Amino acid sequence: MSVIEKMLEILEGIDIRFKEPLHSYSYTKVGGEADYLVFPRNRFELARVVKFANQEDIPWMVLGNASNIIVRDGGIRGFVILCDKLNNVSVDGYTIEAEAGANLIETTRIALRHSLTGFEFACGIPGSVGGAVFMNAGAYGGEIAHILQSCKVLTKDGEIETLSAKDLAFGYRHSAIQESGSVVLSAKFALAPGSHQIIKQEMDRLTHLRELKQPLEYPSCGSVFKRPVGHFAGQLISEAGLKGYRIGGVEVSEKHAGFMINVADGTAKDYEDLIESVIEKVKEHSGITLEREVRILGESK
Ligand SMILES: Cc1cc2nc3c(=O)[nH]c(=O)nc-3n(C[C@H](O)[C@H](O)[C@H](O)COP(=O)(O)OP(=O)(O)OC[C@H]3O[C@@H](n4cnc5c(N)ncnc54)[C@H](O)[C@@H]3O)c2cc1C
Repeated sequence: MSVIEKMLEILEGIDIRFKEPLHSYSYTKVGGEADYLVFPRNRFELARVVKFANQEDIPWMVLGNASNIIVRDGGIRGFVILCDKLNNVSVDGYTIEAEAGANLIETTRIALRHSLTGFEFACGIPGSVGGAVFMNAGAYGGEIAHILQSCKVLTKDGEIETLSAKDLAFGYRHSAIQESGSVVLSAKFALAPGSHQIIKQEMDRLTHLRELKQPLEYPSCGSVFKRPVGHFAGQLISEAGLKGYRIGGVEVSEKHAGFMINVADGTAKDYEDLIESVIEKVKEHSGITLEREVRILGESK
C-alpha cells in the first residue's frame, strides 16, 4: 500500500488537499505548494493527522491565519495543518476560552460584546488565537502574555497538556511553544469587567491609528522585524533611506518602513532578498542588526 493510500484510509473523512498552493492563504500572497494541506474540524482530527505523520515519518507543521509567515517558493513538504476550523469561542464570567483557529480580531469583538476589557490591544492583529499565543503577539503596550491564563496544547508526541502562562515563558514575540514544537489547541484569557463604550472607543482609536500608519491595502506580513532595544525598526530603515526600496515585486512601504509590501506579484525570494539587503544596509548606516519577526518556512525553488 502506498503512503497516499494509507493516508486516505487512516485519515478518512478529514479534508486533505494535495499539492495545494499556499500563496492564496498567506497574507504576503507568496509561497509554493504544501504537499498535503489539511483542515481538521476538531482536535481529534488534528491529533489523528499528527499521529499518522509521526508514524509514517512525514514532516508536519501547523498554521493559523498565515499572517506572520513567508512560505518559500518551493513550498512545504509533508503536512501543513490549517487550524481555522477549530474556531469555537466561549465566554464564562470574565474569562474567554478560544480554540486555536479562532480569529483574534473576532475574539476581541466578542470581548467587546460582553463588555470585557483587556483585549483591546489586539483588535487589529490579523492572526489566529494559536498563532498569537505562539508569537506572544502584541501592540500598543499590550500583549498576549498580559491576559493569558492557560492554554491546552498537543505535544509533538501526541499528548494533551494544560500549560499556565508561567510554563509558556513569554518574552517579546516569544513563547516556549516556539521551542517545544507543541500545537496550541485553545487558550483561556482572563479579562476584567469594563464599560462597553470605553472599550469600543479604545478599539476605534487603535483601528484608526493602524489605518493611518500601516499600508493595510497591500499584502504584507505586518512588521518584518522585531523592535531593537531602544529603537524602532521602521525608523532605522527610514533613516537609512530605504523607504520605497524594491527588489522584484516587494517593496519597503513608504507609509511604514517596518512593513514590506507585495506590490507586483512578488515572490518569497524577493521578500528574502529584500530582508537580507535591508538588514545589511541598516547595519552599515546605524550599526544595529535587525532581527526578523516574520517566520520563513519551507523550501526554495
Ligand atoms: C497587517 C498586519 C498587521 C500586524 N500587526 C501585528 C501587531 O500589531 N502585533 C503583532 O504581534 N503581530 C502583528 N502582525 C503579525 C501577525 O498577525 C501575528 O504575529 C499573529 O499572532 C500571527 O498569527 P497567525 O495565526 O497568522 O500565525 P501564522 O502566521 O499562521 O503562524 C506564525 C507561527 O505560529 C505558528 N502557529 C500558528 N498557529 C499555531 C498553533 N495553533 N500552535 C502552534 N503554533 C502555531 C506557525 O507554525 C508559525 O510558526 C501583523 C500582521 C499583518 C499582516
